[in-house]
Amino acid sequence: MIDLLPIRTQRTPVSRLAELDPDNLEFGKVFSDHMFAMDYRDGEWQEAQIVPYGNMVVSPANSALHYGQAIFEGMKAYRLTDGGVALFRPLDNWARLNTSAERMCMPLVPEELFMQGLRELISLDAGWVPTAEGGALYIRPFMFATDGFIGVRPSDSYRFMIFTTPVGSYYTKPLRVRFEQKYVRSAEGGAGYAKNAGNYGAAMYPTKLAQQEGYNQLIWTDSTEHQYVEESGTMNAIFVIDGRVVTPALSTSILDGITRRSVLQLARDMGIEVEERKVSSREVIAALVAGKLEEAFGVGTAATIAPIATIGYQGQDYDLPVVGPTAFTKRVTAALNAIRTGAAPDLHNWMVRV
Ligand code: PMP
Repeated sequence: MIDLLPIRTQRTPVSRLAELDPDNLEFGKVFSDHMFAMDYRDGEWQEAQIVPYGNMVVSPANSALHYGQAIFEGMKAYRLTDGGVALFRPLDNWARLNTSAERMCMPLVPEELFMQGLRELISLDAGWVPTAEGGALYIRPFMFATDGFIGVRPSDSYRFMIFTTPVGSYYTKPLRVRFEQKYVRSAEGGAGYAKNAGNYGAAMYPTKLAQQEGYNQLIWTDSTEHQYVEESGTMNAIFVIDGRVVTPALSTSILDGITRRSVLQLARDMGIEVEERKVSSREVIAALVAGKLEEAFGVGTAATIAPIATIGYQGQDYDLPVVGPTAFTKRVTAALNAIRTGAAPDLHNWMVRV
């Protein structure tokens, strides 16, 4: 284990925080004052630093640009009701970053370095954590290869970085989605369980086609039968069928979402039966037609919960019932928000105060 490093911190001479319009936060456009960076060379992580957010120079032969050794995480820090700031399940993101790193032949980031970098960065930019209800500081840890070499082999050098961006309350109109039965996001044995950049680039074209047809996103299906639900866009998919919470079981082609595992835990806490198993497009549509599909939604860090209003299947659109105030989606969103702001007890120790 590497000892805690002194993080060399160079503060920005002038904060940009005063320029931020907290009532108009657009996702991913404005970045907080500082970023964390740490290079991997000669088989170890080198000096860690926090510096003002800014551009960097890379070689045109940078191997991440050519062969895609690039991975990332997405997580949030929340403003607590007592004014403090806490991270939501950061160790889960740390562990998943390393799962991705292993799959992509990249070095692991030790827990202490990840947590220390994160805490120091978020403490320094704590003023950027929105105070308005539903707001949060979105945190983007990521790592990429830095060798200037175009042979196809794992790079010898890497950079791990973290930057943050304040986000407002994320409301999406209930989604129109359709089952994708031609293209696949990922296959068993592929890298779908990792958050490597290439998975996202390859998903854009089929998503664009669906958007041209008037859908917001796809429900991805499995690569062999094109039948079984995998995920919904860049979220995990959850259905409420006949009073039970049903979601595809994890596999090497599905990203193990942290919101998914939180929602399933809260469902169990509410005494609701949870089924992690194969869910086919046919089953979903049959349940919908029979009036047994009560709710369907995507879950992920950005939106938390994005309800689905319409599902396209074999050229036909099927509308879900409008959910009432006691629907599971409403209750679980409220329960998660209460934990994240400190308004409800954190029974599972998900929050880590900065
Ligand atoms: N699936 C994919 C492909 C994703 O990119 C994400 C977002 N990280 C998720 C699911 C949801 O994961 P999480 O709840 O950890 O954000």
